[in-house]
Amino acid sequence: MTKEELKQKVCDAIDKRAEDIMSFGTSVFDEPELGYKETKTSAKVQEAMDKLGIPYTTGWAITGVKGRLKGKNSKRTVAVMGELDSIVCRRHPSADPVTGAAHCCGHFIQISDMLGVAMALKDAGAMDYLGGDVVFFAVPSEECIEIEYRKKLMDEGKIHFFGGKQEIILQGGFDDIDAAMEMHAYSTDDPEGNIILNGGMSGFITKLIEYHGKAAHAAGQPHLGINALNACMLGIMGVNALRETFQEKDHVRFHPIITSGGDLVNVVPDLVRMESYVRAASADAMKFYNDRINRALRAGADAIGATCEIKDMPGYLPMEQDKALGKICEANADAIFGKDHVDTNPPFNAGSTDVGDICNLMPCIHPHVGCVHGALHSAEFELFQKQAAYIKTTKVMAMTVIDLLYDNAAGLEDILKDYKPRMTKEQYLAYMDSLRS
Ligand SMILES: [Zn+2]
Repeated sequence: MTKEELKQKVCDAIDKRAEDIMSFGTSVFDEPELGYKETKTSAKVQEAMDKLGIPYTTGWAITGVKGRLKGKNSKRTVAVMGELDSIVCRRHPSADPVTGAAHCCGHFIQISDMLGVAMALKDAGAMDYLGGDVVFFAVPSEECIEIEYRKKLMDEGKIHFFGGKQEIILQGGFDDIDAAMEMHAYSTDDPEGNIILNGGMSGFITKLIEYHGKAAHAAGQPHLGINALNACMLGIMGVNALRETFQEKDHVRFHPIITSGGDLVNVVPDLVRMESYVRAASADAMKFYNDRINRALRAGADAIGATCEIKDMPGYLPMEQDKALGKICEANADAIFGKDHVDTNPPFNAGSTDVGDICNLMPCIHPHVGCVHGALHSAEFELFQKQAAYIKTTKVMAMTVIDLLYDNAAGLEDILKDYKPRMTKEQYLAYMDSLRS
C-alpha cells in the first residue's frame, strides 16, 4: 500500500468512527474534572483503550494513561497527546455544581481526537505499514491552577511540578518518545472552522504571595493593627505602575487573584493570600520582569509596615513549535481543511501550555483548531464546529503520524537528522528547579 493509500484508508476509518469520537468527547465534557483529580476521565480513557485492545500503563503524574500501538518495529515512537483536565468556570452552563469545573478550554476534544487517531490506525490495520510505535498519552493537569492545593501536594512529595507533562518528563514518560503532537481548540469566526499552525506562546513563573499584617478591631482599634489587605492592594498598584515599562515584544502578563482577603469583616486582615503568574515570551524576560514585579509587591508591604512572602515556582516554558514537523502538518491541514482555512503565520499568543516544555526536548507541534465560539476559559465557550474539531483535526494528526512513520520512519528520520533539542532532560530539570525561590 502506498503512503497516500494508507492515509486514505485511515481517513475513511475516522469517518466511520465519527459517532464514537464525538460521543466520547461529549462524555468527557459532561463530567469535567480539575488537574491531578481526573480519575473519572482517566478511567474513561482506560476503558476506551481496553475496548480497542491497546495496552497501556497508568500512574503517569497521578492520573495519566500511556497507551502504545506497536509498528512493524519499535525503532522510533511518535506521541499523540490529549489533556484530561478542565478549568473552573462556575457560570458556564455545563459547570459541575459542586466543583465549578467546566470544559471551557476544550481539552475534551483533544482526548477524543487522540483516541480517534488510535481507533483509525487500529481499524485500518495501519501499524503493519509503519516503522515505529505510536503512543497515545492522556496527560493530567495542563491548567496551572489551584496553586495552594498543588503546593500542598508538592510539599507532601506527591508531585514535583504543577504541570502534568512536566511531571511525566521527570518520571521518564517521554524518554522513549521521539516526536509529539497535540491539538488545542480555539475561538474562530470562520463558520467552517480553521487550523492555526506554528504559533508561539509565552512561558511563566508561578507565584504564591502572602501579606502578613496584624489583627485588631477594625473599628475600635484599627491603629493597633496592620492591614494586610491594604498592603496587598498597594503591591498590585505598584505592579500596575510598572506596566508602562513592559515592552510589547516581551508580552508580559501579571494577572493575580486574591484567594484569601481576610477572615472577618470586623477584624483588620492580618493575612492575605494571592496567586499569580508572571508570563513573558522568553525565559530571560520571565526572570527579568519577575524580579521587578517582586520588588513592587514587597514595596506594598513596606509602605505600611506589613511583610510580604513570595514563593516563586516553575511554571511552563515558552513554546516554540518545530518548523519541520509543522511543514508536514501543514500539507495535511491544506488537504483536509483547505488552504483558505489554514493560518501558518498567526500572531503571538500570550497564553501558555506545558506543551512548551515538551517543545524544548523533542520535535513537537501544537496546532490550534478554530472550532469554538466565545473566549477560552469563559462562560460563553461553545463548540460549534464539531466536524473541524473531531473529524478534520483527527485526520490531520493521523496523516501526520503516517508521514512520520511510513517507509521505516523516513519522514521522522529526516527531521531528527537535523534536530538538536534546546535542552537535554537533565538540563531541563535543573533549569526548572533554578526557578524556585
Ligand atoms: Zn487548554
